[in-house]
Amino acid sequence: MHLISINIFQLVAAGLFGAVLGSFYGCCVFRYINGQTLTNPRRSTCPDCGHTIRWYENIPLLSYFMLGGKCSDCKQKISPMYAVIESVSVAWAVLLMLTFGPTIQWLMYMFFGGLMIVASFIDLQTFILPDIITVPGSIAAVPCAALLTPLGWEGALLGAGIGGGLFWSLRLLYRGLKGVEGLGLGDVKIMFMIGALAGPQNLPLVITVSAFTGLVAGLIMMAVDKDQEYGSMIPFGPFLALGSMLTILYAEPFWNWYLI
Ligand SMILES: [Zn+2]
Repeated sequence: MHLISINIFQLVAAGLFGAVLGSFYGCCVFRYINGQTLTNPRRSTCPDCGHTIRWYENIPLLSYFMLGGKCSDCKQKISPMYAVIESVSVAWAVLLMLTFGPTIQWLMYMFFGGLMIVASFIDLQTFILPDIITVPGSIAAVPCAALLTPLGWEGALLGAGIGGGLFWSLRLLYRGLKGVEGLGLGDVKIMFMIGALAGPQNLPLVITVSAFTGLVAGLIMMAVDKDQEYGSMIPFGPFLALGSMLTILYAEPFWNWYLI
């Protein structure tokens, strides 16, 4: 493994950048779910009382804890989802910096990771992976992976084709066997993007981690949700995102360990 020299300032800067982006991601998720656009309304408001969020109430992570997770005006609980999204975003920025250093690859994976974080939290709440994220993400992933990673055009295109094609076939197979939709079209589209980023060699790693974590989460949910209040549905998008993000971070050390 090549060694990257990273200093503490770069890690702190990455973390702060991740926190600011995370706050923006939370806003994207909230506004998508509520049918608002990013420019309208211009300022964020409390969904309960309409109180405009002041700038000092909008500091990533810090504000959530300073306000005790409540609106300063009406004391309604603010969804802890925002703090979770911001934490994930900070972790992603810092871990990427540890793996790639301050490089163009760091920036590239920050971008695609951001798309996956927003898409995952929307999927968790709506069971939809929005086209507005998956389609541009898929289109951008192929040239980015081809030009900025060792995959090249062949690896990026092959990965995209196999990832998207495999999930497309699984979708048809599931529908054929069970007569209902099991995998959404959004899963197929995001696998096109993930396949391009991971490449054919790492795609099995992505799918193994996603399937395993998804299965564990499904079993936990079945144990907790005994009354089947939520049915047996869990969205698969977040697990595909988790699998591909872990693969982007740790595929190289994994293969080094595995192939010894
Ligand atoms: Zn309020």
